[in-house]
Formats: sequence, structure tokens, C-alpha cells
Amino acid sequence: MLAKQDLLRSLPKIDELLRQETLQEEIGTAGGAFAAEAARALIEELRQRILGGATEVPTDLPSVAGMLRERLCQSRQPGLRPVLNATGVVLHTNLGRAPLSKAAAEAAAAVAAGYSTLEYDLDRGARGSRTSHIERLLCELCGCEAAAVVNNNAAAVLIALGEIARGREVIVSRGELVEIGGAFRVPEIMEQSGCVLREVGTTNKTRLSDYERAVGEATGALLKVHTSNYRIVGFVEETPLETLVAFGHAHQLPVLYDLGSGALLPPERFGIHGEPDVPSAVKSGADLVTFSGDKLLGGPQAGILLGRKSYIDRIKRHPLMRAFRMDKLGLAALEATLLAYRNPERAIEEIPNLRMLAQPLTAIEARADRLVAQLARMGIPAERLADHSQVGGGSAPTQLLPTAVVALRGIDPVPAEARLRHASTPVIARIAHDRLLFDMRTLADEEVGRLAEIIGEVVHA
Ligand SMILES: *Cc1c(COP(=O)(O)O)cnc(C)c1O
Repeated sequence: MLAKQDLLRSLPKIDELLRQETLQEEIGTAGGAFAAEAARALIEELRQRILGGATEVPTDLPSVAGMLRERLCQSRQPGLRPVLNATGVVLHTNLGRAPLSKAAAEAAAAVAAGYSTLEYDLDRGARGSRTSHIERLLCELCGCEAAAVVNNNAAAVLIALGEIARGREVIVSRGELVEIGGAFRVPEIMEQSGCVLREVGTTNKTRLSDYERAVGEATGALLKVHTSNYRIVGFVEETPLETLVAFGHAHQLPVLYDLGSGALLPPERFGIHGEPDVPSAVKSGADLVTFSGDKLLGGPQAGILLGRKSYIDRIKRHPLMRAFRMDKLGLAALEATLLAYRNPERAIEEIPNLRMLAQPLTAIEARADRLVAQLARMGIPAERLADHSQVGGGSAPTQLLPTAVVALRGIDPVPAEARLRHASTPVIARIAHDRLLFDMRTLADEEVGRLAEIIGEVVHA
């Protein structure tokens, strides 16, 4: 009891702590009020630990000052920071989905800190359009009549439905009532857009006759949704887009296609099977096609709408367009990403997601061997294993991509995985069969050295 009282009494006073010479620089950066609050919280925490019966609580001034400095330093870490993706999930939604190409990152950086031609026409010396360049590029690359861009694909679908079919029924197959990552669910988007969802068919089979029976006075549009993040297999039947388009047009009904992943090239070219591509969807005659900018397109977060000019023009005048518009950094990155597609080989080389998907297994294995060798030089035993990575981001959910992983030997994977997440550059790895694995598909060649350093920090700590 007495020891407890002694310990409590020996805790430093807050102002005494804040006067410590060793803290002054950190306090200057953090701000006096913030530092005082952090000091108060720290002392209170130590008090509670002592009251709880802990005896190993540091109470001397230098130790407590050291703890406070550590906390002030930590609090300066931004919440949004770069990480190394060693998960092998290429379009990792939680890790930012699509890393930008060098050209796209540079384009965004170039307009970030200064003024730009965001809404200025240099030829006329007057106000210009913020998206006309991008729209022209999209039309050229995808073979469509007109294009518009918004913040993300969820916004694209919402605005398209709201403009084209507000107050009317939109017919959707029961097999396509998609949920993407929790917040985007077709029935709810439909409700938000002011349309009435008319479900047809069953989960596994929807035939043209199901659409035929549902069409009536109240119908405003037909919507096809790509089942991005799941597949229905077995006894299945869906109505192909071309059939739906012919049927819709025979009834003067617009056909909307939410394509989701947005590959501008045939995905087979970078090793993906069973995913639709944008130019083919446009060619099939859908009146509006919507997709994300940061899935298989490999650009910034964006929602892209392509299709008939009359519909696109109406959508551009929708009051939500202003609320959903992209910012200049995203626009710069999107334009630079799209430019790469003029030469498809160049696009696959320069756009990180496409490169990661397209790279041959031998290249991934070579990268794994480099990491193993580098770790061996640091005295850390590791080996290369064969495994599978995933496309991710709600694309090709059933496709497994053969990959090479590096597994650490003789190390408890659970605490090591946690320590890696808290490293100076956080590393996100995966644990399988009780081993900590680094999938080399989603790491760039330039990142191998840094990864080895961080593993060293964590293993030797
Ligand atoms: C991913 C996806 C969306 C949502 O796109 P965001 O760009 O993430 O808003 C909508 N529909 C489908 C079919 C998708 O795959």
C-alpha cells in the first residue's frame, strides 16, 4: 500500500515534465496545448497503472519525458501513409486499389502545388471545360459517342439512374443485385436515385422472357450489372448484353451497363480471364456504360460514364454533377493514365496494376530469390515457395494467379505480422499455414531492398 503511495508521489508534475529540455523541440512542433494534453493523459495513464497494482511503472523524469516524446512523435504520423503491399492482392481495396503510373503521379504532382488550366482554355484565353480533354481521349480509346467523369463508379451509377429513369422502374436480373464493399448495393442505389427496382429471373437463371414479362408502361430502363466480386456457377443462364440491348431498343428503352472493373484492353492481354472490357461493352450497343477508374484501368479513383451523347449531355446537366465532380489531381492522373493506352504495350508496362498482373512467374520468382538472398546476408533464414495471388478489388474473384512468396523460417508469424504493420514503412503481409508470407507479385523491384531492411528491423528487434 505504502509502495503504491510512494510510486504515485514520485510521478512527475505536468509542468515539470513540459519544462524538460529534451522535449522542447518536439513540443514546439506539436504545439503547447496539444503537448500539455498529451502529458496530462500520459501521467493519468501511469497513475491508473500504479493504482491497478503494477509495480514496474517508470516514474523518473527522464523516462516519463522519453515516453512523452515518443507519443508526440507518433502523433505526427499521418493516418494516410504509404505501405508495402506484400499480400499479393493486386487491386487491394483497403490499400488504395490502384497505384498510379509514374506518369500519372507526376501529372498529379505537377498541378498540385500551383495554378493550372483546370477550367481555362489557353487558345481562347477564357473559361474552358475541366473534362473535355479526358472525354475526347475516352471516346478515342473506347469507341463511344460521348463520355463524362465523376468521383467514383458508385456516383456514376447513381447519377445515370437518377437522370435516365427517375420515378420509373428499372429492370435488373436477380442474379445481378450486387453488393460492392458494403456501402454500394444495387437495391439501395436504385432507391437513392429515385428509381423503382424491378427484379426479374432467379439468382442463377434470368432469361430474356423474364425481361419481356416485366416490361410495361412504368419501365424506365434496363440495367445490367457485372457480378464483379462473385460468380454464380453450375446451373446458370444469363441474358447476354447484346440480346438485352436489342430487346431494350425494340422497346425504346435505354440499356445501362454497370461494368465495374473497367478494363480498357482485352483483359486476357494481362492474364485475366472472364472479365468484360470497355470497348466491347460499348460496341455491343449499351446506351450507357459505367466503370471505375481505379480497378483494371489502373488510374485514380474515378467513375467513368460512356455512351450515347444525348444521355451523357443530360447527365452532365444533372445537379449532382457538381457534387460528384473529380478534383484536379484526379483529373491530371486520369488523363496521364489514359494517354498510356494509345500504345497498349506501353500501358501494360507502365500501369502498375497491369504490370503486376501481366508479369511472368519467372520475374516474380527472380524477385523472391533476390529477397531471400538479401535476407540470408542479414542472417535471416527464408525460402521461396509457390503460392497464388488474387486480382482483388472485385475483379475475377475465382481466378488464382500463380505466384512466388518468401516465407520466413523459425519465426512466430502472428507477432511478426503485427510488428511489420507498425514498421517505419508499414508492410502488409499474409499468414498462411502458420507461416508469414511475402507475395512478390505486388512488390516492385525497387521495393525489395526496403522490404529486406524492414524485415531486418522487425526480426532483430
Ligand atoms: C466496384 C464496383 C462499383 C463501385 O465502384 P467504385 O468506383 O468503387 O465506386 C459499382 N459497381 C460495380 C459492378 C463494381 O464492380
